[in-house]
Amino acid sequence: MSQSNPVIIIGGGLAGSEAAWQLASRDVFVKLYEMRGVKTTQAHITDHLAELVCSNSFRSDDVTNAVGLLHEEMRRLDSLIMKCADAHKVPAGSALAVDRHAFSAAVQQALESHPLVEICRAEYTSLDFDSLGILATGPLTSETLASQLQKITGEEYLAFFDAIAPIVYKDSINFDIAWMQSRYDKGDGQDYINCPMEKDEYYAFIDALKTGEKTEFKEWEKSTPYFNGCLPIEVMADRGQDVLRFGPMKPVGLTNPKTGKRAYAVVQLRQDNKLGSLYNIVGFQTKLKYAEQKRVFQMIPALENAEFARLGGLHRNTFINSPKVLDHELRLKNKPNIRVAGQITGVEGYLESAAVGMITGMMTAFEYKNASFPILPKESALGSLHAHITENANSDTFQPMNINYGLFPELNNKLRGDDKKSALSHRALSAIDTWSALQG
Ligand SMILES: Cc1cc2nc3c(=O)[nH]c(=O)nc-3n(C[C@H](O)[C@H](O)[C@H](O)COP(=O)(O)OP(=O)(O)OC[C@H]3O[C@@H](n4cnc5c(N)ncnc54)[C@H](O)[C@@H]3O)c2cc1C
Repeated sequence: MSQSNPVIIIGGGLAGSEAAWQLASRDVFVKLYEMRGVKTTQAHITDHLAELVCSNSFRSDDVTNAVGLLHEEMRRLDSLIMKCADAHKVPAGSALAVDRHAFSAAVQQALESHPLVEICRAEYTSLDFDSLGILATGPLTSETLASQLQKITGEEYLAFFDAIAPIVYKDSINFDIAWMQSRYDKGDGQDYINCPMEKDEYYAFIDALKTGEKTEFKEWEKSTPYFNGCLPIEVMADRGQDVLRFGPMKPVGLTNPKTGKRAYAVVQLRQDNKLGSLYNIVGFQTKLKYAEQKRVFQMIPALENAEFARLGGLHRNTFINSPKVLDHELRLKNKPNIRVAGQITGVEGYLESAAVGMITGMMTAFEYKNASFPILPKESALGSLHAHITENANSDTFQPMNINYGLFPELNNKLRGDDKKSALSHRALSAIDTWSALQG
C-alpha cells in the first residue's frame, strides 16, 4: 500500500496517539482524525493530543505492581505515551505523575513531526469505509459516531454509562466464614460465594452505606440514569432499612453449612473472569468514595481482609461489550477492517487505554503487511489485558476493567503477597522480552 491508502485512526487521545506511533514506527502511513480543535468534549479542555482529562498520574511505577509492570512492558516495546510520560515526570513518590501540558505537547510534537503521520482536525462521522482503521474515540465518543457504532455492534452491546460493582481477589476472601452455593442450589454450586450477616451486622452495614461519603456526578454527568436493575447500593439503602435484605442481599435459598441456618442477610459474589481469580459483589454498584468503599465493604463478614482488584463506580462512559463484538485481534466482528482501541473497549484508565492502543497499532501494522500477529504472551500485562477483553471476561456482566494481577494466569506455586507479585512481574517481563525478541 502507498501513502494514498493510509490507516485511518479516529480519536487522538491516549489510545489513538499510541496506535499511530506504533504504526508509523513500522513504516505504515497513518491519518489521525481528532475532532478537538473544531469540536470539544464535555471533559477535555485543550486541543492537544493525548490530553489527560483529570488526574496527572499514571499510578504506580513500581514494577511489582500490575500497573507499574504495564508501564515497564510498554517502555520495552517503545511506547510513545511512556516515553513522553518519563520525559515529563514530576515528583510523586513511587507513582508516575507528569506535567500534563508538557506531556501532551510532547506526544503531539512527536506525531506532528513524524513523516508518516498526518493529523486531521475533524469530527469523523462515518464508519462506512473499507481501508484498515482504528476507532479510539474514548469514553466521550461523539454522538454521531456512537450511533454508527451502535448500528454495527447492535444496540445492546454499546453502553453509554458504566455501573461497576467492586471486584475482589478470591484468595483474599475468608472461607472460614464464606461458603460457595447458588441460590436454591441452581447451577453447579460453585457459581457464588456467600457472606452471611447477623441482624446487628446488617443494620450497622446499612448505616455505614447511608452515611459513607459519596462522589458527586460532574455537571454534565447529572443526567446519568439510574436503571432499575443497577441502582447504587447506597441509594437502595436510603430507600428503607430492609430494602437490601429483600433485594440483592436476600438470604433465601441459601443455607450456611457452618451453622445449618439461614443468615439474616447474605452478600453474594459472582465469578467475574474465566480464570476464577476475581469475584464481583453482586448488586453493589456505588458512588461511595474509594476509601469509603474499602472501609464499608470490609465490614462484610468474610471480606474483612478483602483486596479489591477494582472499586465500584458509576460514570458517563461509552464502551462496547468487547468479548461479544470483537474478535481476538480486536476487530469488530461485523466490520473487520476496523479495530477498536482504548477505553471504549472496556478497559479503564489512561495507561490501560494506551496499552490497547499499542496492541491495536501493532496488530494493524502486521495486517497491513499481510503478516500474522504473534499472539501476546498471556503471562504478560499486555497479554492479560488483551485476553480479558477478548475472551476471559464474562460478557453478561462486562464492565470496564483496569489492569490487576487477577487477570494473569496463576503461578505454578503457592507464593503469596509480595513474593507472588514479584514472581508474576518477573515471569511477565521475561515473557514479553522473549516475545519481542522473536519479532526482531
Ligand atoms: C471525566 C473523566 C475523568 C477521567 N479521569 C481519569 C483519571 O483521572 N485517570 C485515569 O487513568 N483515567 C481517567 N479517565 C478515563 C480516561 O478517559 C481514559 O483513561 C483515557 O483518556 C481514555 O483514553 P482514550 O484514548 O480511549 O480516550 P480519550 O483520551 O478520551 O481520547 C479519545 C479522543 O477521541 C476524540 N473523538 C471523539 N469522538 C470523535 C470523532 N467522532 N471524531 C474525531 N475525534 C473524536 C476525543 O476528542 C478524544 O480526544 C477519565 C475519564 C473521564 C471521562
